[in-house]
Amino acid sequence: MPVFLDTTQPDFEARFAAVLAAKREDSPDVDDVVAAIIADVRARGDAAVLELTAKFDRLELTADRLAFTPDEVEAECAKVSPEDRRALEIAAERIRAYHVRQIPEDAQWTDPEGATLGWRWTPVSAAGLYVPGGLASYPSSVLMNAIPAKVAGVSRLAITVPTPDGIVNPLVLCAARLAGVDEVYRIGGAQAIAALAYGTDTIAPVDKITGPGNAFVAAAKRRVFGKVGIDMIAGPSEILVIADAENDPDWIALDLMSQAEHDESAQSILITDNAAFGQRVAEAVETRLQTLERRAIAGTSWRDFGAVIVVRDLDEAAALSDRIAPEHLELCVANPEALSEKVTHAGAIFLGQWTPEAIGDYVGGPNHVLPTARSARFSSGLSVMDFIKRTTLAKMTPSALRAIGPAAERLATSESLEAHGLSVTARLKKLNDG
Ligand code: NAD
Repeated sequence: MPVFLDTTQPDFEARFAAVLAAKREDSPDVDDVVAAIIADVRARGDAAVLELTAKFDRLELTADRLAFTPDEVEAECAKVSPEDRRALEIAAERIRAYHVRQIPEDAQWTDPEGATLGWRWTPVSAAGLYVPGGLASYPSSVLMNAIPAKVAGVSRLAITVPTPDGIVNPLVLCAARLAGVDEVYRIGGAQAIAALAYGTDTIAPVDKITGPGNAFVAAAKRRVFGKVGIDMIAGPSEILVIADAENDPDWIALDLMSQAEHDESAQSILITDNAAFGQRVAEAVETRLQTLERRAIAGTSWRDFGAVIVVRDLDEAAALSDRIAPEHLELCVANPEALSEKVTHAGAIFLGQWTPEAIGDYVGGPNHVLPTARSARFSSGLSVMDFIKRTTLAKMTPSALRAIGPAAERLATSESLEAHGLSVTARLKKLNDG
């Protein structure tokens, strides 16, 4: 059973703190394993990647088979039914239309001193896109990673996707082709992240790594940050549903299970202002857990990390939601817009009972690669912005330098950086000498 909390209980704060602190992904044991894997890949390159792929994905490869060949991609794509292909195309079109709106403008202006200032945006050259594949396969994650990268103008896109026992979902390769991905490697976990960051003989290094994954992937991304850019920590999935009693308990149960079925480390939480409704949802979850195909995973996640929290009112729900900073937040209440305005920290918000979170996973348009483990307090879902960077521009005229140069000279002197100051002084002297 999940934990049942009630904000009127005297020990609520301690029990809520335990829910927030649940050990789901950033545990030292995972990090130790990941550190050793990264060191091994750095030291031995392809040989380490091949050994680790055999160990974790039960797949014996040779270096020349790390990447899918164009013929293999073609053959897998041919297995995709027209209906599935059309669904992918609908998703791709909607994701592209949403992300095109994120392209920011360059800026340039001349200030009162005559200095021309501004910035311009340029794409990273090569991006490594992690597509999970251990417990489930995620063609949707191919689109969610690759489309914003393409929209941003990234020239080289490399995907890594684990194929346990050599089994690949043809839709993953179909989505990669649809999105214009250049390279697809059949590897996963921390070894894939290390290979993308440091490169091997077969896999050229990239500049930025994005995408979701399990605890090992999330820990590896943390560790390679600095050598490459990363988008965020998008680890085991989370959903927080705030629902009043006017909902069908079974719908809410399914929404909770839609994230629990990702991973035993996933977390599903219901906050409601009606204790009896909370109980009915918990019962509906148990009923669904009798038959769901992934009931073993979903059941473990619900039992270990699930929670039902009863609050006095929806204001209290919004305040608790901000403390959780969930990846996905569903607002199944009479006025979801009003409640959403009271929420500050959430990766993605789904408003109203006709917006199950799963729509956002596939076809809504917004990105489904989202910050987890409370990192929505300071980061955002994947976007075009993750694949571009800003270069600032400044041009002085003689009169602009005359106007602001002396302040630079003084600050350089105060920092005891003589050459800094003299580089300005020399120019001002030339201007003053005529
Ligand atoms: P995965 O590709 O993330 O992980 C599989 C890899 O993990 C394996 O290839 C292996 O290398 C590594 N691994 C497994 N056990 C290991 C061990 N004991 N030691 C070292 N390495 C090990 O696929 P998955 O496991 O299916 O997980 C997908 C995850 O992505 C889930 O947690 C899901 O919730 C999450 N997800 C998150 C988002 C998001 O936006 N936050 C979106 C989709 C999926």
